[in-house]
Amino acid sequence: MRQPPGIVHLVGAGPGETDLLTLRAARLIASADAIVFDHLVGGGVLELARADAQCLYVGKQAGHHTLDQAEINARLVRLARDGLDVVRLKGGDPFIFGRGGEEILALVEAGIRFDVTPGVTAASGAAAYSGIPLTHRQIARSCVFATGHFHDGSCDLDWPSLARPDQTVVIYMGVGALPVISAQLIAHGLAASTPAAAIRNASLPDQKTLLGTLADLPEKVRTAKLTPPALLVIGEVVRLRDGLNWFEQT
Ligand code: SAH
Repeated sequence: MRQPPGIVHLVGAGPGETDLLTLRAARLIASADAIVFDHLVGGGVLELARADAQCLYVGKQAGHHTLDQAEINARLVRLARDGLDVVRLKGGDPFIFGRGGEEILALVEAGIRFDVTPGVTAASGAAAYSGIPLTHRQIARSCVFATGHFHDGSCDLDWPSLARPDQTVVIYMGVGALPVISAQLIAHGLAASTPAAAIRNASLPDQKTLLGTLADLPEKVRTAKLTPPALLVIGEVVRLRDGLNWFEQT
């Protein structure tokens, strides 16, 4: 008899700390036949999996792609066609710089059932655990998420829209391009003294926050040899950390 068709659950694993998972994510992980996971998924999260679940690492670290995107898509389709209950686990939220949309389009094309479970995105995790609210009355009325990583190696963002006043800019994958980002934001009108932070491993015990200004953060990040995964937060809200840091020993 034919097996019932499988399903792929696209699940956000949050920024790292296991108990920042949603209850639904934890339930799906605990019952999955197969878990296909990325580099940024915290180790504790996988401990929730069944002992007999197939766990497949397809992690993408800059420059070290285990499988390319087409191979990951094909793997998901194959596992689901084998009738398995598959969890595709991604760091943070799958629809924020997670290529979740691309993977789902491949599933749709192949006629595979799917659903999506949101996760705490790195920006929310970093904001909470560094004590930097992303919006604040009279300080930041809008908040923009952007990526500092472009596949052609450039960093060509919409600088005038990022350099608006009363706005918080959060940049994912921006450590490498920080010197360019800082210079462009200043060139497009933000004060060189605008507060800025780089937050590495947000929510994890070794979280590290570097504070500075648009002008001096690139040098501080370079001196501290801060490596990914880290998030940049730029805007007046960064000043609030002084009174709101509750997590990190400084
Ligand atoms: N889908 C993910 C983002 C994936 S892109 C999400 O919603 O969070 C990968 C980038 O996310 C990293 O380069 C880094 O900029 C950021 N990131 C992910 N986890 C992080 C963490 N714990 N601390 C700081 N930045 C993180």
